[in-house]
Amino acid sequence: MMGSSTGDQIPSVSVLKGVGAAMLTKLQRLGIHNLQDLLFHLPMRYQDRTSVKEIGSLKIGDEVVIEAEVVNSEVKFAKKRTMLCRLHDGSGSITLRFFHFSAAQKNSLRQGKLLRCFGEVRPGPHGLEMVHPEYKSIDSDLPRAIEECLTPVYPMTEGLQQNRVRSLMAQALNWLESGELAELLPRELRAQWALPELHKSLQYLHAPPPEANRELMAIGMHPAQRRLAFEELLAHHLTLLNLRQKIQCEGGHALQPAAELCDAFVEQLPFTLTNAQRRVAAEVATDLTKPLPMLRLIQGDVGSGKTVVAALAAIQAVENNFQAAIMAPTEILTEQHYLNFKAWLQPLQIKVAMITGKIKGKKRAALLEGFANGETQVIVGTHALFQDEVRFYNLGLAVIDEQHRFGVHQRLSLREKGRDGLRSPHQLIMTATPIPRTLTMSAYADLDYSVIDELPPGRKPVQTVVISDQRREQVIERVRSACRDKRQVYWVCTLIEESELLQCQAAEVTAEQLQLQLPELNIGLIHGRMKSVEKQAIMQQFKGDNENPAQIDLLVATTVIEVGVDVPNASVMIIENPERLGLAQLHQLRGRVGRGSVESFCLLLYRAPLSQIAKKRLQIMRDTNDGFLIAEKDLEIRGPGEVLGTRQTGEMQFRIADLQRDADLLEQVQQLAMQVNTNQPLVEAITRRWLGQGEEYGHV
Ligand code: ADP
Ligand code: MG
Repeated sequence: MMGSSTGDQIPSVSVLKGVGAAMLTKLQRLGIHNLQDLLFHLPMRYQDRTSVKEIGSLKIGDEVVIEAEVVNSEVKFAKKRTMLCRLHDGSGSITLRFFHFSAAQKNSLRQGKLLRCFGEVRPGPHGLEMVHPEYKSIDSDLPRAIEECLTPVYPMTEGLQQNRVRSLMAQALNWLESGELAELLPRELRAQWALPELHKSLQYLHAPPPEANRELMAIGMHPAQRRLAFEELLAHHLTLLNLRQKIQCEGGHALQPAAELCDAFVEQLPFTLTNAQRRVAAEVATDLTKPLPMLRLIQGDVGSGKTVVAALAAIQAVENNFQAAIMAPTEILTEQHYLNFKAWLQPLQIKVAMITGKIKGKKRAALLEGFANGETQVIVGTHALFQDEVRFYNLGLAVIDEQHRFGVHQRLSLREKGRDGLRSPHQLIMTATPIPRTLTMSAYADLDYSVIDELPPGRKPVQTVVISDQRREQVIERVRSACRDKRQVYWVCTLIEESELLQCQAAEVTAEQLQLQLPELNIGLIHGRMKSVEKQAIMQQFKGDNENPAQIDLLVATTVIEVGVDVPNASVMIIENPERLGLAQLHQLRGRVGRGSVESFCLLLYRAPLSQIAKKRLQIMRDTNDGFLIAEKDLEIRGPGEVLGTRQTGEMQFRIADLQRDADLLEQVQQLAMQVNTNQPLVEAITRRWLGQGEEYGHV
């Protein structure tokens, strides 16, 4: 989605000399459509061709220009036909090695010729070499022009040569010189933040002077690069702020506090709320009383008790005669929420229903009818809630649980559905796993933010052990003894293959094997290909209730149990091949244990040998139970796309900025965004420049 910023007045790259249909396609593959896109296609590194080096001074790995005379040239027939060309420049000598060469080349490289070569210095059997260097012969009467600037090396696509891109870039830089590309950051702001001008930054980065700091540029920290990153981050930030303003302009439903009913609800809970839960619930309740749609993100570590807070908000909506929808990312979690909400809210005479993709036919029709006529007051569902056939009677609140499985688009789409005329429902977004602050600041700039920074009392941190699968027998013994002590155990199977089918098969096989080794245990199996009712039945047997004690000792599962599942007596978890999962996902999985008052264990059963990185990652899991810390580490190791779960959807992908490298800019970006927020022409221009067709964000 990036790159197609077809600004009104920016010419297409097809105006450049040398861009025909074939070239156009290649450029498009790089996301380059117009001259601005081309100029934002920054070099990934530079070569220095601005001075001629003495051969005697060369080191292996240097990329340099040399000038020297051919002293000897010969073709050898070893394994491959090879031309070797010995050069000398008074300071030393070097060999040029060619595996492919024409007769004309052979001729031009004969003894006595004076050459200028550019290439990488490598070790050879008889001293230094250059393999297939660029070269040309020097006529002694011509002036020896050499490059004035560092030579850019661009990220490439197949069939596109550096020289072609450089020549296009030279033309684009000419166009830039004519002042066609607007400077969007006002002068005083640039002065305030010490940001160089746009056109100067681009000029510098595509044609840096010889003395430019190449080390700084290589890590993306040159002021010219940072200026562009800054503008891009600002564009994203403004887009989200703008989105927020548009939503809030629409107005929302002011919902009166429902203190009495909420108190009654809290009374009947088997626990008392933590202070953090109380504080966040109050923030939400206050938001709901305003005639503006709430846009709030709740973060809280696994097990911090976010669901109760959502239930309190739902009660407030229902008390005001509005419907509330709760959306969860998986069927299992949806079912669990449904059971929870039903148990909590039915005693208060609130009607709760659930919709998933698997409910079909008459049953579905009846459900939809209940949503549309307002009879159903609280609706729990999966993505099925997005479908066109789903109509609400009057949606006052949309809760989106485990947000980072859903994208911004889905968030918007649910809001659209609840819109009556001009007003939007309140939105409460709850994240599964803590998100590092830098990502929160950028990905969720449109949301207010609450954090439940306290776990319910009595929780003991999960003891995590990293153990090789060569010691599987020992692990099985540990399971045996845990179950003998009346504890329950999860055994989680992971697989590299994306295929759900294979994952499920692996879990089936594991369950069978474990049953052979642990004949005295009741072993259950749960995976994504089972019917909803089957899954629900298995979870029920694992969890048990007042009338029926739990019947399953050991539950073999795929990662479907990742989010939300809550069985307090389960206190041991084995995760097979944990090295295949992200840290956030492991943390989520591990969060399934440690929910009761007994000491809990998580055994990470890896397949030896582990890579260094994998070792480091599993150590992090062993060393901390703090989801926020784990999220930071995950970000360091895997990058923002993975952590936000948006890599596939292309959201939050930057052309130049890098959320980690440029994290220190975010504070300034945020401040500046507040300053220029109301300058509509600027906001529009900058959004168009950097987000292009992502403009949809601004228009919903
Ligand atoms: P998460 O924040 O991960 O979604 P949940 O809302 O699923 O956490 O809550 C985890 C478990 O803790 C549930 O069994 C819930 O009933 C319980 N719980 C929630 N709040 C409290 C509390 N204040 N004291 C004790 N247990 C609580
Ligand atoms: Mg939850």
